[in-house]
Amino acid sequence: MIYTGSIHTILMQGSELLVRRIKEGTVIDHIDEGKGLQVLDALGINGRDGSLITIALNVPSAKYKKKDIIKVENKFLKDDDTNKLAVISPKATVNIIKNYKLVEKRRVALPAEIDRIFRCSNPECITNSAEHIESIMDVMDKEGRVLKCRYCGRILDVNQLEYN
Ligand code: ZN
Repeated sequence: MIYTGSIHTILMQGSELLVRRIKEGTVIDHIDEGKGLQVLDALGINGRDGSLITIALNVPSAKYKKKDIIKVENKFLKDDDTNKLAVISPKATVNIIKNYKLVEKRRVALPAEIDRIFRCSNPECITNSAEHIESIMDVMDKEGRVLKCRYCGRILDVNQLEYN
């Protein structure tokens, strides 16, 4: 995969993270190792608006061995974004930066249900029909990240979910 434009990919080997501090934006920390690019994709972070994006993959971490980190200038995560993050990488933390200061630190958490953002994997499901019914998924097990489509009852594998 090759990234161009304003996305800067830094593959970290050492423990020093030499990146510019951001004035306003979000730092998503403690992303599961190897999930950083999936998070970017899920959150639609692509740098097309010209914002500075810094991605660090495989950063040594005291807590979980290795982790991925994403810094995005001028973006503050919405609830849908936080829910996606909770599904992809439940240990992630969201740090909101304003005027170079950390003003809020959030842990992500799965809600009881997730509406709209994922597509049911059952092609026969009414949410995939021409009727344009929005998906509703019940979170059956927050730890194990088990989701179930409320319409067709299919148990969904969080690693194979497609985003709407
Ligand atoms: Zn379904």
